[in-house]
Amino acid sequence: MTEPYPDSGFGTAGVHAGQHPEAAFGARINPIYMSAGFVFEDFDDAAARFSGQTPGHVYSRLDNPSLAAVERKIAALEHGSSARLVASGQAATHVATAALLAAGDHALVSSRVYEGSRALFRVNYARYGVQVDFVENPNDVHEWRAKLKENTKLLFAESVTNPKGEVVDIEMVAGVAAEHGVPFIVDNTIATPVLLRPIDYGADVVVHSASKFLTGQGAALGGVVVDSGRFDYLRHGQKYPLLSQPVYGKEDASFTARYGNAAFIEAVRQQISVIYGTTASPFNAFLLQQGLETLAVRIRQQTATAQVLAQWLEAHPQVESVDYSGLASSRSHGLAQKYLPRGSGAVLSFTLRGGRPAARSLINAVQLLSRMTHIGDVRTLILHPASTTHAHLDAAERDEFGISEGLIRLSVGLEESEDLIADLGQALDVLPPPSEKLLISEDRADLAFASALS
Ligand SMILES: *Cc1c(COP(=O)(O)O)cnc(C)c1O
Repeated sequence: MTEPYPDSGFGTAGVHAGQHPEAAFGARINPIYMSAGFVFEDFDDAAARFSGQTPGHVYSRLDNPSLAAVERKIAALEHGSSARLVASGQAATHVATAALLAAGDHALVSSRVYEGSRALFRVNYARYGVQVDFVENPNDVHEWRAKLKENTKLLFAESVTNPKGEVVDIEMVAGVAAEHGVPFIVDNTIATPVLLRPIDYGADVVVHSASKFLTGQGAALGGVVVDSGRFDYLRHGQKYPLLSQPVYGKEDASFTARYGNAAFIEAVRQQISVIYGTTASPFNAFLLQQGLETLAVRIRQQTATAQVLAQWLEAHPQVESVDYSGLASSRSHGLAQKYLPRGSGAVLSFTLRGGRPAARSLINAVQLLSRMTHIGDVRTLILHPASTTHAHLDAAERDEFGISEGLIRLSVGLEESEDLIADLGQALDVLPPPSEKLLISEDRADLAFASALS
């Protein structure tokens, strides 16, 4: 963006970026423009706006002023050049990748991605003739290189993975993508731009589930695609016919001819998201706008509390291990020092020594924490991945991803850390001592837990 907000002023950008006072009445807050369409001045104005010759909104599936303000703000926060707001995080991953992939193409994807993203690549794209390979260890440069193909059109990974909180070496993967001349797309949902801006490390595109930390209050779904504006689509145009060739016949110029290297984000906007109909509601855009204003303070506070909880859990006798890159015991601690100097985020997971029975007991016993499959809320949320988000996987796959029977995911909110520790503490206290558990089978353990609770 052209608006200058130094890194040190993240809170400043969160409040001010993209926010022009409203013209009609001078409203300080960009209003909710809840209108399907926008009136044309006259006959010629209609034609000119349709063709894009004059600026101005036409129809809200394509564009809406409530969305435009949020797109400018998120692009600024992520150090991108332009952004497209859509209805959910799934929609964002879909439209970003659909602009680059066609039947016969290949995509290379980190295996450590959100289950919805894995399903998009593994099931939905497979049906359209797009081949996908998964990189088992996303921090292994050799595996990325070895799995590249002539027809590989994009690389995809999460900066911080869900639920295990592994940090991906973005600069390394961006280097592999650059060698091959394809864009690297990073899902930055968990880190948020407050903690990490993938574009600063060479990512070409950033996607978010805005339903999570960006909105923050757990009320609205949303997603966003942010373009760095740096990938050379003019040079690599032959790989991306949607961008480099006229879409509707010869007389209609291509996206690269009209927009240069902004061809990608303009194709996402004008061809992919508008035609698939992934549009965000102006009302949801407004909730997201209000959430973004407090993003910096929320993330700082929630991250600090997560660090306190991670340390407390690691010392608890019922807890076998904690996955949080802010701990020295984490495999990702080294990468976190490089990529997450402001903190490791508000999502952490830990493994109970008592396996599934202990997990059931803990989840049933918490009172302050909400049992929910969501992250990034101002409330602290607790989930057992093996029986919910990852239940459809077979045991071998769950093993590979480290989704053990005792694994618990927390998304840490804005409650005081003492209150969270008190609630988790009372819930862990009803578990039988872990040493007893080791002597009994899982079934017997279930009975033991049931009696311990009654
Ligand atoms: C939730 C989530 C998504 C999907 O977002 P929705 O808004 O639920 O569609 C994608 N990636 C990550 C990392 C997520 O946590």
